[in-house]
Amino acid sequence: MKPKIYGVLGYPVKHSFSPAMHNAAFRVLHIDAEYRYFEKKAQELGPFLVSLANEGIFGLNVTVPYKEKVLPFLAKVSHEARMIGAVNTIKVAGRLLEGFNTDGEGFLKHLKADLDFKPQDKTVAIIGAGGAARAIAVYLAKERVKKISLFDIDIAKARLLLEQLKNNLWDTVFYAADSVADLKIPESDLLVNATPIGMKEGDPCLVAQDLLHRDLLVYDLIYNPRETKLLSSAGKKGLKTANGLGMLLYQGALSFEIWTANSAPLEAMRQALTEVVYK
Ligand code: NAP
Repeated sequence: MKPKIYGVLGYPVKHSFSPAMHNAAFRVLHIDAEYRYFEKKAQELGPFLVSLANEGIFGLNVTVPYKEKVLPFLAKVSHEARMIGAVNTIKVAGRLLEGFNTDGEGFLKHLKADLDFKPQDKTVAIIGAGGAARAIAVYLAKERVKKISLFDIDIAKARLLLEQLKNNLWDTVFYAADSVADLKIPESDLLVNATPIGMKEGDPCLVAQDLLHRDLLVYDLIYNPRETKLLSSAGKKGLKTANGLGMLLYQGALSFEIWTANSAPLEAMRQALTEVVYK
C-alpha cells in the first residue's frame, strides 16, 4: 500500500513549518503517511483540487494566497469557516472536499490549555483586521468575551469586519477603534497583535509601553522572531506574554485530528516545530 499523502497548499509555500510538525506526528503514531509542500500557481489551483482523490491526497492545509480562493471547490464548509470566510484545512472525503478553519480554534486552545486564560466576559484589544484577526475574533466571540476592540490601519476594513461579526455573534460588543490609543488597552485583559508588524528588524513597536498594565496578557501572532519588540516591551514590565507558535501548533493538531480521527501527539508536534523554527 502507498502512504497516504497530506500537505500544505500555497504560493509560495516552501517557508512553511507544517511538514516538520505533521511528519513527526505520523512517525510517532506509526501512520503510513507523508506530508508534502504543494506550491501551486493560481491557474493550477482548480485542476489540483479536482485531482486530489485520484492522486491519493487525503488532506491539505491551505495558506496564503488560497484560503478564500478554495471555497468554490468545496462541497461542505464548516459553520465557523463560513463565518471567517476562509479555509485552512481541507479533508478529502471520498470524492468530495470538506473545508474547515482551525486557526481561531488553535488560538483559543493555546489560550486555555497553556496560558490559563478563560475568555468568557473578558475584554480584548486586537490590532489588525486581516484573516488571522477575523478567525480569532470569531472564536473569542463564540466563547462570549464581553468586548472586542479592534484597530486596523485601514479603518474601513476594521468597521466592515466588525459589522459582519455583529450580525452573527450577539453576546459580544464590537468596537472599531480609530488608533492604537483608542483601543482601550488599559481596560483590556488581552491584547493581540494580528498584523505582520514586528517580523522585520526595523519594525516599530505598535503599542506604547505606558498603555500596558500588569493584568494584561500580550499575545503576538508572530513567532519568528521568537520575541517581537511588543513582547519584549511587555516582558520588561513583567506582563505575561505569548508568541504565535502555540497557535501554529494547536491549529496543526486540530487539522491532524480532522484528517486522521486520531488524537494529535501534541508533545512530539511541539518538539518538531520548536526544533525547525528556532534551530
Ligand atoms: P493580513 O491578512 O495581511 O492582515 C494583517 C492586517 O494588519 C491587514 O489588514 C493590514 O493592513 C493590517 N496592518 C498592517 N500594519 C498595520 C499597523 N501598523 N496598524 C494596524 N494594522 C496594520 O495577515 P494575516 O494573515 O491576518 O496575518 C497577520 C499576522 O499573523 C502575520 O504576521 C501572520 O504571520 C500571523 N499569523 C500567525 C499565525 C499563527 O499560527 N501563529 C496564523 C496566521 C497568521 P494592510 O493590508 O492595509 O497592510
